[in-house]
Amino acid sequence: MNTFFLIESRNMIFQSKQAFVQNQAEIISKSLEDVFELLIADDVARVMEYLDVAEALNVVITDANGKLLYGSSRNNMNDDFPPEEMEKAREGKDLFYAKFIDGSFFSSSLTPVVSKGAIIGLVYVYESDWEQGSILKNMQKTVGNISIIIIAFAFAMLLFIVRSVINRITSILNAIKTVREGEYNYHVEMSGKDELALLGDEFNSLTDRLRETDEIRQRFVANASHELRTPLASIRLLADSILQNEGMERDTMQEFISDIGTEAERLTRTTEKLMTLTRLDSGISDEKIKVNMGEAVAATLRMLRPLAMSGNLSIFESMEADCYVLATSDAIHQIVFNLIENAIKYNKPEGSVSISLFKENDDIVLNIDDTGVGVPEEDLSQIFDRFYRVDKARSREAGGSGLGLSIVRDSVRDLGGNVTAEPRVDGGMRFQVRFKQFNTPA
Ligand code: ADP
Repeated sequence: MNTFFLIESRNMIFQSKQAFVQNQAEIISKSLEDVFELLIADDVARVMEYLDVAEALNVVITDANGKLLYGSSRNNMNDDFPPEEMEKAREGKDLFYAKFIDGSFFSSSLTPVVSKGAIIGLVYVYESDWEQGSILKNMQKTVGNISIIIIAFAFAMLLFIVRSVINRITSILNAIKTVREGEYNYHVEMSGKDELALLGDEFNSLTDRLRETDEIRQRFVANASHELRTPLASIRLLADSILQNEGMERDTMQEFISDIGTEAERLTRTTEKLMTLTRLDSGISDEKIKVNMGEAVAATLRMLRPLAMSGNLSIFESMEADCYVLATSDAIHQIVFNLIENAIKYNKPEGSVSISLFKENDDIVLNIDDTGVGVPEEDLSQIFDRFYRVDKARSREAGGSGLGLSIVRDSVRDLGGNVTAEPRVDGGMRFQVRFKQFNTPA
């Protein structure tokens, strides 16, 4: 931009110079043409006196052969206009020459004097203007200085920006290292609203998520080992008692051995449930197919009827036909089994379990109602958590592990459905599972 500006100003000055010197040369040549047919030095001098040309201008006049008639013999005519150019002037052309050298503008013009169709002389006008030149030179200097200041400033800014970007990236890198070493509480501080600040925010929410996952994992491992350790400790205790008590009665011994069997069963159930949860966590599930919910519920009920009968419970069912969902039959079995088993396990003697299956808008709804002990308001939000049990003694007694509802929640989620638990007004609980209806043929 600086160069463009300077070139433009120089060109403008050149143009005005050309107009000026050419105009002066023309005035002189016209004045001579009108008066003479042949040029003589005395005549020319008289005309020039009369014309009163600007002082700054140097005028040189020659005859057609180049003989000096007026002005200085030390002129630039031959330098400015080489022979072939001179030839053009002799043919009647006006010539112009300009240069900017050593801080001054030099401009000259060569115009022929034509009388009755013949060239009778040449008028050479030249001007050397150092005033305009020094203005341009000063301008050049000022613009140069401004450019240097701008470049220095831009460079300093660039350096500052690069440094600050590098510093911020370094702090993100350090944060990544810290978090990688397990310090999940670490947060990176990023001010501003740019992409790096966004990156910092994203990184912080990622570490929060990592911390949560890590806490859940730690709790899960602690709970799982506790759950596995308890039946193992009972088995050991029972086995030790049998070993150390040589004269143990046969009935007592059988009771102990049966208890060992029960604990072993509990271990098996817990490990199976843990494996189901791990499979759900991994996100790998079998291919989903069209499942008839009514049939699946009926099959599960057949397995659980003996348990209900042992508690003298009545089971009521109301199932609409053709309720289809897109699922794996194993997942539907896990969901229905755990919910009905709970409705039986946490029921009161002579109570009842009501199962209803129906279509509502585009949904398939399964309600499992019981007349049991219910869940206190403050525990409601946690019953779907892993290993959470409201009444630990009752759950253990019923062979529970606190994993059943977690499996229900994760399986329902995996199938894109939704499960809720709410206390019934006349006691007991209602568990409701809702899936999108699946209508296309299998
Ligand atoms: P558990 O193996 O202990 O049954 P779940 O995850 O199936 O574990 O259930 C978690 C807890 O929720 C149970 O321990 C119980 O306290 C409570 N619960 C579940 N279903 C019912 C129900 N139908 N009525 C009352 N309480 C229930």
